[in-house]
Amino acid sequence: MTFIESLTLMFALMYIASLNYWSGKRWGALVTLFLSFSAVAVSLYWPLGIALVAALFVTILVNQFAPTEFKGEIKINVLRQGCQHLLALSLFMVAIQYCINAIQLKQGATPWLMRPDVVDAFLPIAGGIELKAIISLNLWDQTHPAAAVMLAAVLLTGLICKRAFCGWACPLGLAGEYLYGLRKRFIKAELLPPAWLDWPLRMLKYLLLLALCYIVIGMPSASIPYYLQGNYHKIADLKMGMFFITPGIITLACFGVILMLAAWRRQGFCRYLCPYGAMLGILSFASPLKIRRNKEHCLIEAKGMKCDKCTRACPANIIIHTQTTVRSDECQACMRCVSACPKSEALGFSLKTGHRVSHKVLVVLLLLCLFALPLTAYLSGFWHSQTPDDIRMQLIQVIDRVGH
Ligand code: SF4
Ligand code: SF4
Repeated sequence: MTFIESLTLMFALMYIASLNYWSGKRWGALVTLFLSFSAVAVSLYWPLGIALVAALFVTILVNQFAPTEFKGEIKINVLRQGCQHLLALSLFMVAIQYCINAIQLKQGATPWLMRPDVVDAFLPIAGGIELKAIISLNLWDQTHPAAAVMLAAVLLTGLICKRAFCGWACPLGLAGEYLYGLRKRFIKAELLPPAWLDWPLRMLKYLLLLALCYIVIGMPSASIPYYLQGNYHKIADLKMGMFFITPGIITLACFGVILMLAAWRRQGFCRYLCPYGAMLGILSFASPLKIRRNKEHCLIEAKGMKCDKCTRACPANIIIHTQTTVRSDECQACMRCVSACPKSEALGFSLKTGHRVSHKVLVVLLLLCLFALPLTAYLSGFWHSQTPDDIRMQLIQVIDRVGH
């Protein structure tokens, strides 16, 4: 685990502890602190220890001088944007470290910066094959274990808190928001497709997901060990990197479509093309948490007034003010609707029993899914790639000739 990964992990855990503490759940804060210190003690890994001390120091300092953020006593939209930007910043630093490592390998020099294993999150097919290997063969891949861990972590977020990963964590979603904002500066109009076109377009992401699942499910179990030991798998991340760094005409055309979609309509890429969004959309049906409207408090039924503020705030164009429960696979649990509602009891992200989850609890749940599983995997020895640098160095020299 690199220092940037350790730092992000420890900051996330300290933020969870802080939110728990200020929400009155002192036991939650104590458990989180105990887990953080235990992780350092068990691993005896100094970057993790330094990251813990740094995160603890910053948390205490911010709690002293600017406590609002660390208490989570900020508006929903501010908390969500803060969460998205910090995770994107961490990913950006990870990407720089990864690029330096890859360039040094290509130059035949022993890298002085470690490869951040979290980049394996961008290998969903490898992750799917590894999960299949674990389930069907009890075979735990040692080449890119983080791919399986991160895929499992994201799947877990879908089961627990719908598509909150898309709405609160995904850097592509954040980039899409900026692109859409830029487009709106020059072309003010909402360029929404008609309903008859919107639905088939939304199905495209499910077709892409189907294609990815076909590759994973279609691979015979007997072939999996050969694939996982093969040279292609050893440099699958570098292959993926080359795909983006040296794009061909088809790749460039795909990028163009993605950028146009993101700029054309809000969440255009998430809505129409992202297979992760499709996967989380399916899982979100199983999530016990949903946006629920309480008719007893909603201005429409309670006061006979006209109100559709929640619907107008929804970036996914879901009609909320006529429903009691939002089950749509497009709901990203962003809670913009809750933030826009003038009656605090009328709308919430809640269980069927009516028990509400605040934006602070949602952040805790999301961060726990995204960070506790990788930490556990790291402590169990199922995170760091066991492929030596010299093998990757040899393979990267002949990367074009390494096939499946
Ligand atoms: S229904 Fe609410 S939480 Fe879901 S996407 Fe729309 S605004 Fe966000
Ligand atoms: S914004 Fe609130 S009060 Fe208005 S329709 Fe939606 S849930 Fe009801």
